[in-house]
Amino acid sequence: MEVPFLDLKAQHAPLKEEILQAWSKILDSAGFVGGRVITEFEQEFAIACQTKYSIAVNSGTDALRFIFLALGLQPGDMVITVPNTFIATTEAITQAGGLVSFIDIDPKTYTLSPERLAERLAGMSAVERKKVKGIVPVHLYGQMADMDALLAVAKKYGLWVVEDACQAHLAEYKGHKAGSLGIAGAFSFYPGKNIGACGEAGAVTTNDEKLANRVKILRDHGQAQKYYHDIEGYNGRCDAVQVAALQIKLKHLPGWTEKRRQNAALYLEQLKDMKGIVLPYIAPGSSPVYHLFVILLDNRDAVMEKLKQKGISAGLHYPLPLHLQKAYSHLKIAPGAFPVTEHCAARLLSLPMFPELTKEQITYVCSSLKEVCGS
Ligand SMILES: *Cc1c(COP(=O)(O)O)cnc(C)c1O
Repeated sequence: MEVPFLDLKAQHAPLKEEILQAWSKILDSAGFVGGRVITEFEQEFAIACQTKYSIAVNSGTDALRFIFLALGLQPGDMVITVPNTFIATTEAITQAGGLVSFIDIDPKTYTLSPERLAERLAGMSAVERKKVKGIVPVHLYGQMADMDALLAVAKKYGLWVVEDACQAHLAEYKGHKAGSLGIAGAFSFYPGKNIGACGEAGAVTTNDEKLANRVKILRDHGQAQKYYHDIEGYNGRCDAVQVAALQIKLKHLPGWTEKRRQNAALYLEQLKDMKGIVLPYIAPGSSPVYHLFVILLDNRDAVMEKLKQKGISAGLHYPLPLHLQKAYSHLKIAPGAFPVTEHCAARLLSLPMFPELTKEQITYVCSSLKEVCGS
């Protein structure tokens, strides 16, 4: 049996006619950039995320970058995040003029550790602490970070919290949706995300009207009115072709999320007695959306290779932590600096996960995994 890591073709087949019709209308109207379809989608996505505003942009990376710029990040300002994330999180901080400061992850949720954060801030000199402006928890794999604890630490030190929710569309923490708890949330609609465009797209969510307006201006060359530029901005708009597909897909997102949760439940049930692996932890009050279904085990690379021989595609998220990447060699952070992240990076394995995965496929993955691991 073949089990792909992700099957986007299966998702698109039943939507093809509807998407093509929407695209045909756009082609006829030649309204490729801007227009009502954008604001309509922004309202719908804001409702889905339980926020007042959503602003559609080019990508999740731009969503993050525009939030940091809109918050007024200045050269030399420090922003705290985790080394176990996709590089877009830190690229956006640096490109907005900030300095990246890493904090290790929680060993259970694989997200920013509130304890390590509190410890780090308490241990800083007053001068150093003044440089820190905000923290960026990453709701990795679709599980939200411990927001109550992080928001409490942030409040104590007067820091803003920006949620990197690029893997966490519709994820919940104590009844609150991802992207609704910090000052702003960043979402990616990269094709492989839980809701993906047919190209590149992203969105910012916020309840703060001023921030929303600032992001809107930043994405469009600093203009609120055509050819009147209040500031220098960017070409960071989301085009109508992407938004039309996203609007159609958004209607299916709750159903797809439910399917992901059902698939995760099947994995958890079938693997619950397996020795030598750690299954995803679900924090109390948390409803993950399983962008990825990630297990932790020794001999990860050998297991992955043997699964591949059985037709099963697994993935690594992420094999090399950011602080050990060549791109961050100038930070001079030695291996061992973030032990939990490094332990996980060597052992995490992402099993196939997408809504259309069948029970037979999941059963095959689980039995193959047990066979390969000899348990
Ligand atoms: C995908 C992703 C991003 C970047 O989104 P793009 O749309 O690809 O720019 C940022 N952070 C995380 C955690 C992601 O998974």
